[in-house]
Amino acid sequence: MADPQTYPARVDLPGTLGAALLRALRGQCPRCGEARLFRKWLKPVDRCPQCAQDWSAQQADDFPAYIGIFVVGHLLAPVVIAMIGSYGMSAWLTLAIILPVAVAMLLAMLQPVKGGVIAFLWWFGIGGFVQERRAEDINKP
Ligand SMILES: [Zn+2]
Repeated sequence: MADPQTYPARVDLPGTLGAALLRALRGQCPRCGEARLFRKWLKPVDRCPQCAQDWSAQQADDFPAYIGIFVVGHLLAPVVIAMIGSYGMSAWLTLAIILPVAVAMLLAMLQPVKGGVIAFLWWFGIGGFVQERRAEDINKP
């Protein structure tokens, strides 16, 4: 397997953090954007088959779940308040409706969010990653 440091010119590195995040949110390798980042639902590939980036070094841990809970909570809190406050629904009925919706939203966003966290860690060289930039971006002010 090729060492990612040996072939920097062959890889189309993202120019910005936003570009790296966008690739990862789509489930693609944030470094090259040409191969899948995940081999299972939340399990990243050990090494990118296209650019040989070692993704086993990622340490996203529980952070994607925290982000998911934060986002889903903030999206559904006004809905819960409206259901109980404005429509006068009982707390049990509200819970029966909101709980499956919240679980479905969280499960749907977990993989893209984990990809985003991995892209963030890689972009800033956090943990086991080495920070990389395109040659044309290195000398920018
Ligand atoms: Zn790659």
